[in-house]
Amino acid sequence: MMLISIPKRRRTTPTGFLFAAVLMLFSFTLSSSVRAGDARIVFPDHVQQGAMVIGRVPTGSEVEYAGRQLQVTGYGSVVFGVARDASGSSDIKVTTPDGHTQVAQVKITPREWPIERVNGVPPKTVAPPPKIAERIQREQAKVSAARRRNDNRVGFTQDFIWPVKGRISGRFGNQRVYNGTPGSAHSGMDIAAPKGTPVKAPADGVITFAGADLYLTGGTLLLDHGFGISSNFLHLSQLNVKVGDSVRQGDVIGKVGATGRATGPHLHWGMNWFDVRIDPLLVLERGD
Ligand SMILES: [Zn+2]
Repeated sequence: MMLISIPKRRRTTPTGFLFAAVLMLFSFTLSSSVRAGDARIVFPDHVQQGAMVIGRVPTGSEVEYAGRQLQVTGYGSVVFGVARDASGSSDIKVTTPDGHTQVAQVKITPREWPIERVNGVPPKTVAPPPKIAERIQREQAKVSAARRRNDNRVGFTQDFIWPVKGRISGRFGNQRVYNGTPGSAHSGMDIAAPKGTPVKAPADGVITFAGADLYLTGGTLLLDHGFGISSNFLHLSQLNVKVGDSVRQGDVIGKVGATGRATGPHLHWGMNWFDVRIDPLLVLERGD
């Protein structure tokens, strides 16, 4: 059997006419607003706290975010990090080569930050004596200096890989309590792995810091992926690279250990956009 539907003839009523006019006006407004925006400026609509945000702008644009001039790659990519405690939206000011300025907006989705109790860490690492506190400050200053680099390398655009495979034993951003004393939020992601497990570069970069024995972080490496994006690897038992070494994604850079303030062998992998800490897990999930 076949069903044939015969369209009903529609009469144009005054209401129908008005409706059509409103619709026309609406679609005109819509298309003109699209035309006003630059299709070559692309940023995600929304991201989570702790995200690395990669956007696209016309090459040769000037891009400003959080009071900082962002470098633009030859392909028109820009990158920035959203802090753990950021809220509202990230506004990116883009001035295209033709002189037009537009503001792209990325909404920030808040996350939950559970409390994580870490017991059994060496007490001297929780409340260090003044002399040690000085040493910690000195060491941290060197690491911070390495993070200020704004190298023109594009390792950050790769799909990051896990530096070691294993269970996540500590998540980014969790509020840490060490031996009952509240500490700062966990600055990276912990991956449980046996001592001696090779640690691989999650993306291309250059080694900007290598310290075999820092007080809190033990064997410590900093890997710069360019444009302010860097990785840090802590508690290592062995460093296989030195400052200035260029490494490719997958290269072994060190070995898992339990040096510094650690309760057992694991890799602490942290990531930064300059001094803004970002969540490596979100960076890994970008490639999924
Ligand atoms: Zn950690």
